[in-house]
Amino acid sequence: MTSLSRRNSDAPKPFSETPEMQLLRDTVRRIAAKYGHAYYQEESKNDGRSQALWNELSEHGFLGVNIPEEHGGAGLGISELAAVSEEVAAQGCPLLLMLVSPAICATIITRHGTNEQRDEFLPRLAAGAKMAFAITEPNAGSNSHNIETTATLDGSGYRLSGTKYYISGVGESEHVLVVTKSGGGSQTGRAELSLFIVDTNAPGLEKHRIPMEISAPEKQFTLHFDDVRVPGARLVGQAGRGLKQVFVGLQPERILGASISIGIGRYALDKACVYARERAVWGKPIGTHQGVAHPLAVAKIELELAKLMNEKAAWLYDQKLDAAEASNMAKYAAAEAGLQALDCAIQTHGGNGLASEYGLADLWGMARLLRTAPVSREMILNYVAQHSLGLPRSY
Ligand SMILES: Cc1cc2nc3c(=O)[nH]c(=O)nc-3n(C[C@H](O)[C@H](O)[C@H](O)COP(=O)(O)OP(=O)(O)OC[C@H]3O[C@@H](n4cnc5c(N)ncnc54)[C@H](O)[C@@H]3O)c2cc1C
Repeated sequence: MTSLSRRNSDAPKPFSETPEMQLLRDTVRRIAAKYGHAYYQEESKNDGRSQALWNELSEHGFLGVNIPEEHGGAGLGISELAAVSEEVAAQGCPLLLMLVSPAICATIITRHGTNEQRDEFLPRLAAGAKMAFAITEPNAGSNSHNIETTATLDGSGYRLSGTKYYISGVGESEHVLVVTKSGGGSQTGRAELSLFIVDTNAPGLEKHRIPMEISAPEKQFTLHFDDVRVPGARLVGQAGRGLKQVFVGLQPERILGASISIGIGRYALDKACVYARERAVWGKPIGTHQGVAHPLAVAKIELELAKLMNEKAAWLYDQKLDAAEASNMAKYAAAEAGLQALDCAIQTHGGNGLASEYGLADLWGMARLLRTAPVSREMILNYVAQHSLGLPRSY
C-alpha cells in the first residue's frame, strides 16, 4: 500500500526541523543565554536598549536572516527570523524591535522599495540599524483607513503633518517608516495610503515618550509631524497604494509577535518546572501535586500548538502562499498561550513569583501587550469570523 511504503521512504518529515534550523536555534540560544533575563531587566529599568545583545545578534547575521543576500542578509525567510526571535525571548529577552525593524520594515522595503532604497537601507538593517514603524494614531486606532497624518506634495518632495502614538523604539532608531494618507477613508472603506522613510531627527518631528507600565528596553513615543519635509526619493512604492504595501508587512508582524509570545511562554514554563521540581512544602516537590502540575502541562500543550501554527504560518509566507489566516490564528493562539504560561509560572512560584529576583512578573506587561498589539485579539477574531467562517462583518 502506498501509505505504508511511504513510512519507510525518505519523504521529508513535515513536523521536524531541518538540521540547519536546529543549528540556528542552538546558536541564538547560546548567544542570548550569555545575557539572560537579568541583563534584560537591568536594561529595561535603566533606559538601556539591549544594544549589546542586539549587536551580537547582528554581528552573527541573525537580524538580517530574512534580508536578501545581495543586500547584506542571509537570504532566508520569516521562519528563520521568527526562530531567532523566539529563541531570544525564550532566554528571557523578548526584543520587540525584531517585530518592527527586520520583520515589518525590511519586508516592505524589500518588496516595495526602489533599488536605491534597497541599496541604502537593507544592508544597514541587516547590520543592526533599527527602523521604527508608525501607523497607529489617536483618532484612528484599529481602523487604519481613518488615519489623518497627511503627505502633501511639495515640489519634488512631500510635507508630512499629523500625530502618531505608541510608536516603539523611535528613540533608538535612525529612521521611521511612516504611513500617511492621501485620500479615501472610512466612507469609501479604503484609504489611499502612502509610506515614507523619515529621519527620526528631521526638523519638525517632535518625539514625546509615553510613560508605560511595561518593563522593556523599547520605549513608546508620540510623534508630532509639523510640516516635516521628506524628499520624494523616500516615498516607498507608489503614492496612494500604501495599503497593499502595509499588508505585505502585516503577516511577518503577526508571526514575529507570536514568536515573542511563545518565547516568553517557554522561558516562564522552564523556570516554573525547575521550581516545581525543587520546592517542597509538604515533604515532596510541589510539582507532585496535580494542582501545580496540570496547569503547567496545559501551558505546555497550548504553547506547542501555538508554535506549530506559527511555523505553518511562517512556512506559508516563505512559500509565497497566503498566510493571512494562519498568521492571525498563530498570533492569537501564541498571545493567549504565552500569557497563560507566564501566569501559571508566577502561580507556581507562590509569593516568589512576584519578586524581581525570580524574573517573571516584570514580563507581564510585555506578554499582556501581545494580546493587544500589534493587532488586537478582537480584530483577529473579526478576521477569522469573517474570512474563515464567512460570517457578516460587524464594523
Ligand atoms: C507598547 C505598545 C507598542 C506599540 N508599538 C507600535 C508601533 O511600533 N507602531 C505602531 O504603529 N503602533 C504601535 N502600537 C499600537 C498598537 O498597534 C495598537 O495599540 C493596537 O493595534 C490597538 O489599537 P488601539 O490602541 O488604537 O485600540 P482601539 O482601536 O481604540 O481599540 C480599543 C479596543 O476596542 C477593540 N476594538 C476596536 N475595533 C473593534 C471591532 N471592530 N470589533 C471588536 N473590537 C474592536 C480593540 O480590540 C481594543 O480592545 C503599540 C502599542 C503599544 C501599547
